[in-house]
Amino acid sequence: MSEPDELKVLNPATEEVVATVPAAGADDVAAAVVRAARAQRKWAALAPADRARLLRRFADTVDAHIEELARLEVREAGHTVGNARWEAGNARDLLLYAAGGAERLLGRQIPAPGGWNVTFQEPLGVIGVIAPWNFPMPIAAWGSFPALAAGNAVVLKPAETTPLTALRLAELALEAGLPEHVLQVLPGHGHIAGRALVDHPDVAKIVFTGSTRTGREVMERCARLVKPVTLELGGKSPNVVFADADLKTALDPFSFLDNSGQDCCARTRILVQESVLEEARDLLADALAAVVVGDPADEKTQMGPLISRQQLERVRSYVPEDAPALRGSAPDGPGFWFPPTVLTGERYDSPAACEEIFGPVAVLLPFTDEADAVRLANDTPYGLSGSVWTRDLGRALRVSQSVRAGNLSVNSHSSVRYWAPFGGYKQSGLGRELGPDALTAFTETKNVFISTEGPAQ
Ligand code: NAD
Repeated sequence: MSEPDELKVLNPATEEVVATVPAAGADDVAAAVVRAARAQRKWAALAPADRARLLRRFADTVDAHIEELARLEVREAGHTVGNARWEAGNARDLLLYAAGGAERLLGRQIPAPGGWNVTFQEPLGVIGVIAPWNFPMPIAAWGSFPALAAGNAVVLKPAETTPLTALRLAELALEAGLPEHVLQVLPGHGHIAGRALVDHPDVAKIVFTGSTRTGREVMERCARLVKPVTLELGGKSPNVVFADADLKTALDPFSFLDNSGQDCCARTRILVQESVLEEARDLLADALAAVVVGDPADEKTQMGPLISRQQLERVRSYVPEDAPALRGSAPDGPGFWFPPTVLTGERYDSPAACEEIFGPVAVLLPFTDEADAVRLANDTPYGLSGSVWTRDLGRALRVSQSVRAGNLSVNSHSSVRYWAPFGGYKQSGLGRELGPDALTAFTETKNVFISTEGPAQ
């Protein structure tokens, strides 16, 4: 099958072409890996404090370009400008956090008869990072920056639709003084450039963020080379709301509307205790009607468009015109718009209630008691995120211990903090990113035994 060797980046709010960038082929990936391997040896040989200093300079350079990066993200991904500023700031903050990790990548000493074991955390080499389109900047950063701090080089393949901020970050890295080829960004098609990165024998590890379907393929291909892989995949996260909760806050529609619902942590299964179901429905109807959907570059806009026509069609396929639902509004005309929607007539096992839609659509479902809530929350192949809302502390703890997901919030809808681990249970992924152990995931542990025996008498 012949593919165009260019990627056309569209503004999802207007459908205008923002930029055209060359698409890397398998040969380009192979050449980038050779360059990365060479650069990595020198990068790893730097003193940790020097590597940290360069990463801090990189953070300062990103900081000086927050507005530019944010505006670029608005144009290529349709993110609201407020969100996009947060995303650029997240990349900067993670650089600073990871820089500190370079200076604290400690081994251990373990006593043994006749000597000592000493462990070293050694960089893996070249890391392949494959990113999706929904959070182009943060996800590029999460996969790449801790890897760099641990002394690895990175070849990053952004998603076809959103390569621009990743390309700009790589330019800013050079401007900040990072050595050439330590961070390379290669836009390209998944089944060409992505696959070439996965299959390359000199790529020591793959960090993949994307759909569970592609993640499964990436893992299978990595298995052939016994290549380690971190997978950050899909989700269908529950928002468990007990009758004693602060209902208005618990039912904040931005728990699933943030980034137009194109968020792997979106709480798209709203599970509400049946005694307050009617009240919940009224609160959600009012809240959806008040959501400001429109031009993402406008400071007042709360929700922008979907990323592409393809994504719009996918979301539409889950919401027939006559489906019982609460609906907000969305602009007409060019752009990939879909209104905030809560489906109210779904069965527990319907596709909309079980599959990741990845748009501004949630389902509202009742539960009877605590055991029923936990059973429903866990009735999914996914396990990424979720919220539990109750004023009963014991119940909050019991439920959060019983729900099998990697990132839960009690009386909150937040999921991601760069200083805490992030990742999924079950088919939401494998391994963890961020947090205090982020660098270790990009190292091998080497044990060296040092004999203290003297010469034989
Ligand atoms: P996707 O799987 O289609 O693509 C993700 C990336 O993989 C893209 O860069 C794509 O080009 C590349 N790719 C595609 N086929 C490939 C192949 N055969 N080999 C190697 N690379 C390949 O996903 P998407 O539609 O871009 O992103 C949406 C998905 O990402 C959702 O399912 C969402 O839940 C998930 N996601 C997960 C997290 C998380 O942290 N768990 C975060 C964000 C997004």
